[in-house]
Amino acid sequence: MKITDLKCAIIGKNPIVRIVTDEGIDGYAAVESYKPYLKPHVLHLRDFILGADPTNVERVMMRIRNHGAFKPWGSAVSAIEMACWDIAGKAAGLPVYKLLGGKVRDRVRVYNGSVRFPLTDYSPEDYAENTARMKASPEGFTIIKQAIGFHSAMPRNIPNFYYGERQASTHHGQWEGGPLTDRGLNHLIACVEVIKHVLGDDVGLALDCGPGMTVPDAIRFARAVEPYNVMWLEDMVTGDYTPHVSAHLYREVTRATSTPIHTGEQIYLRQNFRELIETRAVSIVGPDPCDVGGIAELKWIAEYADLHGVLIAPHGTGNGLLGLAALVQVSATLPRNYIAFEYPIGTPDWWKDIVVGLPDPIVQDGFIEVWDRPGMGVDLIPEAATAYLTDEDREFFE
Ligand SMILES: [Mg+2]
Repeated sequence: MKITDLKCAIIGKNPIVRIVTDEGIDGYAAVESYKPYLKPHVLHLRDFILGADPTNVERVMMRIRNHGAFKPWGSAVSAIEMACWDIAGKAAGLPVYKLLGGKVRDRVRVYNGSVRFPLTDYSPEDYAENTARMKASPEGFTIIKQAIGFHSAMPRNIPNFYYGERQASTHHGQWEGGPLTDRGLNHLIACVEVIKHVLGDDVGLALDCGPGMTVPDAIRFARAVEPYNVMWLEDMVTGDYTPHVSAHLYREVTRATSTPIHTGEQIYLRQNFRELIETRAVSIVGPDPCDVGGIAELKWIAEYADLHGVLIAPHGTGNGLLGLAALVQVSATLPRNYIAFEYPIGTPDWWKDIVVGLPDPIVQDGFIEVWDRPGMGVDLIPEAATAYLTDEDREFFE
């Protein structure tokens, strides 16, 4: 089998990759919805993979892996990897999980990172009400993640929250951060207290916190919330869109507290997880298959983490419904250090009308049943999806 074309279209907000072969089998995959600007990066890789056999996934990756880097620059390579697995599964007539070693679980636990309701003033009461709505959501999530601190608009809404200088960029307060004031730290702790009161001990709480906290503040916060048994504190020091890891800083935090510490969504390739895992600098890693280099890369990281007593909770909030399928396939195969992956939804809502293969409802009691259709098991319906193509992408399915 040979790759004869690589196409990319923006459908909704996700750049969608289509790999075309000489045997009439197509592979699909998605780039995060936050990155429509990556379409040229995907198409730049076309010439490198033409003529390659997509069922030899690693061999294709050896041609393009050096064209990726930390988030957002790992996405194009990652999407091509997943589209190749989709083809390999379809060619074999098997779901991708079989090609990755088979199922460890028949249903995969997800956590809520996408079913969101707007916050208003970022007060403890606001978080309580917001969390109650998430808890009542029909998916029945058993783990809910909330964004607080530098991963939220809290620094802009809570006066005297921290000592740093506010910067112009607003993406999750990117490049924002600094020492918390006493008031800021107390506000964070007060929010955790009320959120846990809402969730009780039935639903786990994860908190996305940064990046941007100092090591001393991260330690103080992690210790202060120890009585609440949160599932993890994510990206306190480095993380989302940070172009490096700084495992040594995370190790100081992790050694100082019993609260599990989590990072890794921005990291590209297994090599860049090595120090985090070998030094047990975090308790939980959170690679995203759409950023780390694909699903085989994620599985390798999960296995290596398991050898070192480190858990895994993959990231995925912007990955759309094709990304959801990839997360289901790989998560079914992960060892017992697997906690849950971050559940992505299709945006806009019509995404559910242009794919085939998803169960209805997708999530029941916080789990997704692993399906058995060949490949990733979720396919675009060209007749339905064409209506949502822009003029520029009109020939995507041709
Ligand atoms: Mg995060």
